[in-house]
Amino acid sequence: MTRPAAPLRALRHLLAGAVLTLTASYATAAGSPCMQVAGPPIPDLRSALVGAQRGIVAAEPGSVPGKVSPAGIQTLRTAYARISQAAKLSPVLLLCDSKQLNAFAGYLRADLPAVAFEAQLLTFLQDNEGEVASVLGHEFAHILLGHALQRARAEAILSRSDASPEQKQLAFSRFSREKESRADEKGFSLAVSLAGYPADSQQNAVGKLLRESGTTHATYLDSHPGWLERKNKATHLSSNQHYIAQARQLGRTQNMRALGELTQTWLQAFPDSGAGWYYRGIYLIRQNKNGSGVTKAFETAVNNYLGSTDLGALAQEDEAEVDYAWLQLCSALFAEGYREESLNCHGRIRSAALREDFARRTFDSHVIVAGDRQNRSDIWLARSASGSKLITNDESIAASNKQYAKLPPTWTAMRFPAANMQDK
Ligand SMILES: [Zn+2]
Repeated sequence: MTRPAAPLRALRHLLAGAVLTLTASYATAAGSPCMQVAGPPIPDLRSALVGAQRGIVAAEPGSVPGKVSPAGIQTLRTAYARISQAAKLSPVLLLCDSKQLNAFAGYLRADLPAVAFEAQLLTFLQDNEGEVASVLGHEFAHILLGHALQRARAEAILSRSDASPEQKQLAFSRFSREKESRADEKGFSLAVSLAGYPADSQQNAVGKLLRESGTTHATYLDSHPGWLERKNKATHLSSNQHYIAQARQLGRTQNMRALGELTQTWLQAFPDSGAGWYYRGIYLIRQNKNGSGVTKAFETAVNNYLGSTDLGALAQEDEAEVDYAWLQLCSALFAEGYREESLNCHGRIRSAALREDFARRTFDSHVIVAGDRQNRSDIWLARSASGSKLITNDESIAASNKQYAKLPPTWTAMRFPAANMQDK
């Protein structure tokens, strides 16, 4: 394969390999000069990159790959800092020049994840930090989800074997559609829910590239149907996010009538939106509706957060509403008399402050949450010498009391099985 030279060739290559993915063509990446722009300092990049699977090499000292402007590098660094904080992960960030519009994730060593951003792609997107961040979010997601490590291991094995070039090509091909889709979801979550970038960043980056592509568009779509699916998904996620923003605003201004109308339209368009069901539940509470309707709304919310099929669980898992949806569900279960379910449920609340809130609303002093282990399988029901009931996740506290028994292990949607989730 020859190295694409003209911009259109580069673009065609991009669309064939798909931006936001690891490039399929190792051959064209051979010898790409790279510089480090962020992440843990690598004092001797030259030797760190020796034997790198992609054939990337250290750039000459003082030279900037692809002649990216200082402003472009600054944009990349800023986006990296925000995504890195969101992901709680600091991979080595490389800026490489292989004349491709691409980015990829991998490992320099078993303990050293890396993300490489191609100079061409940075130059193309650098005017919009959110779009740069959406690419980074996707690559960080490949690392977080273990895709990059799985592949690095496969590469290490193949590089030692006598595999044929064809076999190697297979192993080096891009991630599966399934993995790309999961990385898009988690990448969206990192860039939008956690780092606070505009919801339409990913959709816009893709749209920009497709507009550039002109006549290559159709060819691309023919050969890579997964790409169109991913573009639609980005649009879908962005639209759900706009509903979330409106609901937050209506919640702040206590405009419950409008919130009720909004959730109606929202859930018609996105029946598996966790936040959509959460705000539906909030609306019902404010309407002084009680009982199983409220519980069902929150239960549907968390079911969607746990395993949404359309928007994707990974895309929604970092939304600020998640913890509140659990708090509301666990409290609603308690109010309905489902005490054990309520207690099992509360192990899912991540924030210590909200767990306190749960205890105040429900069991009050009769619930003792002890230690770091918040597993739902560690919940004990005990009766003290004076006969009062005690619920705890500390077995020694339970054992020191008169009699105790373990509660059923995990919270499950026992009243509203997943199959009935969407029949409101
Ligand atoms: Zn990818």
